[in-house]
Amino acid sequence: MSLNDIKIISFDVEGTLVTPDFSYAVWFEAIPKLYGQKHGISCEKARQIVKAEYEKVGDQRLEWYDVGYWFNYFGISSPAPILKGYENKVCYYPEVFDILKVLGQKFKLVVASGSSREFLRHLLKDVETYFTKVFSSISDYQQLKTKDFYLRMCQDLGVSPHQIIHVGDNRQFDFDIPQQLGILAFHLDRNGQTPGTESVNSLKQFQSRLLD
Ligand SMILES: [Mg+2]
Repeated sequence: MSLNDIKIISFDVEGTLVTPDFSYAVWFEAIPKLYGQKHGISCEKARQIVKAEYEKVGDQRLEWYDVGYWFNYFGISSPAPILKGYENKVCYYPEVFDILKVLGQKFKLVVASGSSREFLRHLLKDVETYFTKVFSSISDYQQLKTKDFYLRMCQDLGVSPHQIIHVGDNRQFDFDIPQQLGILAFHLDRNGQTPGTESVNSLKQFQSRLLD
């Protein structure tokens, strides 16, 4: 692989830089708790109802990622103070700081996330200084991580797709789609179940593929 052309490394956020803990707490603890209080039902019962509603929408639709939509839909208070209250649940994978520091010396680093800015504000709180730009497909372009999203990101950065490397944990949104555009993509599979040179089992391994 020739890295001479590469100008930018782009990272997914949830499952890539941060563990699912924060999001899980918001979707499956905070929202059910508020919903349960509103309707006078147990947290467990509320969680079942809320979960069933999420599943009706599914991860191929924008609403799935839109915390404001869900607060509105369930008729509960505004998300901002709730998200703030759960900030201590934000947890970075252990290798993240080292990787960003090392790769940041050679490349510009950006974020390409399907999470909304309301989430990213908290999710990136300890790492945002490493990134020259943060792209949220839903908040900036009202779409999932489609080909159009990646293309617009390239245009905004003033580079062509072959000058970007992207890494993330979702096979569809972080690997198949950017690759179709000519972005060199790596699928981060932390369980190590996916064979092939385009898959890595940690960001450490990702870094080794690039620099060793
Ligand atoms: Mg992800």
